[in-house]
Amino acid sequence: MRTAVVVGAGIGGLAAAGGLARTGWQVTLLEREDRVRSDGTALVLWPNGLRALRALGLGEGLDAIATAVAHTGVRRPDGQWLVQPRPQPGERAPVVVHREDLHDALIAGLGEQVEIRTGVSVRGLRPVSGDRPAVTTGRGAIEADLVVAADGTQSVLRPVLAPGSTVISSGCAAWRAVVPWYRAPQLPPEQISGEVLGAGYRFVSASLGERGSAGGSSRGGIYWVATAVGASRPESPATQLTLLRRWFAGWPSPVGELLAATEPGDVVQQEVRDLRPLPRAYGFPAGPGGVVLLGDAAHTMPHHLGQGACLAFEDAATLCALVRDAVPGPQLTAAIETYSRLRRPRAVAMARQTRRVAAVLQARGRLALRARNATLGTISPRLMGRVAATAAQWNPPPP
Ligand SMILES: Cc1cc2nc3c(=O)[nH]c(=O)nc-3n(C[C@H](O)[C@H](O)[C@H](O)COP(=O)(O)OP(=O)(O)OC[C@H]3O[C@@H](n4cnc5c(N)ncnc54)[C@H](O)[C@@H]3O)c2cc1C
Repeated sequence: MRTAVVVGAGIGGLAAAGGLARTGWQVTLLEREDRVRSDGTALVLWPNGLRALRALGLGEGLDAIATAVAHTGVRRPDGQWLVQPRPQPGERAPVVVHREDLHDALIAGLGEQVEIRTGVSVRGLRPVSGDRPAVTTGRGAIEADLVVAADGTQSVLRPVLAPGSTVISSGCAAWRAVVPWYRAPQLPPEQISGEVLGAGYRFVSASLGERGSAGGSSRGGIYWVATAVGASRPESPATQLTLLRRWFAGWPSPVGELLAATEPGDVVQQEVRDLRPLPRAYGFPAGPGGVVLLGDAAHTMPHHLGQGACLAFEDAATLCALVRDAVPGPQLTAAIETYSRLRRPRAVAMARQTRRVAAVLQARGRLALRARNATLGTISPRLMGRVAATAAQWNPPPP
């Protein structure tokens, strides 16, 4: 039987492991943590991410947990519109899902076939010379026809495969939270979702729906993500929340109400990172099989376009389609090379667009801000339109 080792049980690794198992691969999933879990926040999924999940056979589970995000436009901290809500004809709305719901759906998608080993930290790749690839752990090596490196931003496998790529800070930090529905401010639905953009600060919110009413999800509430230029903060969560309330004081509703309703334990802080340059290849044939990079291990980028997880699902759907019928040997190595050929340009294009948006979003200083505010109304819809079009264009490779 064809064997695969997937390193990392984040959303990318879970999606790939389930997809491979459903097409007849014997999969071992290795996770360094003691449990497979997500943080308690949420995620926006764009049409490309949804299409990838459907291609992986996970569409049904998703319908029950996803809530459509209204097209909300962008405001300034004084409440003035920078970009008015202008849904394009035929434009498909993104959805917001609770990360724990998504994790549960992905874990359910693993079925009975995937062997999950938690508390196993992969340390490296065994040098290969015509042999199958093997990952090394504190408890010995595990060989497989296919190794999927889905071990996230701080991947231990990527430096072996792509030594020229380095993770750097993107110059900002992000805070995310889901305010549970019972504590959420009572606001008109059209006021809950939106984006507000200030000088080096950004606040985005979306409703997951009322508890129990978002399909099968029991994790309703309101999701928000705040971004600020600068390094992540070393203080306690309570102090960080106080800082957020101060930075975003006076911003239009629902910003103040949401921050007031948030408790320190709800908040997840993260330094925003960027992988530069992106690896030259995402597939590395070895012996009759090889290794692939997937998800943030392959293309960590700032979250401004909300595409990191969507790209991880595209990676997984592409990989599973390409190796579905491939047997170890020339067929499998050709599939691994095709994976690299298809995925790298896609990640490069998305990273480029993310950086353009970052330059707009992170503008600071009076002149830069004035220029940004003057042009955002025209640049942003065009830029966002291009992003939406790029996203919509993606399709899994035909079987
Ligand atoms: C603030 C913010 C907001 C975001 N919002 C969105 C959004 O709205 N939409 C979107 O599409 N994306 C979004 N993203 C991006 C998204 O969160 C990531 O792209 C996605 O979670 C990457 O998943 P992954 O599985 O590749 O990596 P991870 O989720 O990092 O998973 C990696 C897994 O590998 C395990 N691991 C690591 N090293 C080892 C090892 N040596 N051995 C074994 N296991 C190991 C880790 O424990 C972890 O479980 C956002 C990111 C940020 C920072």
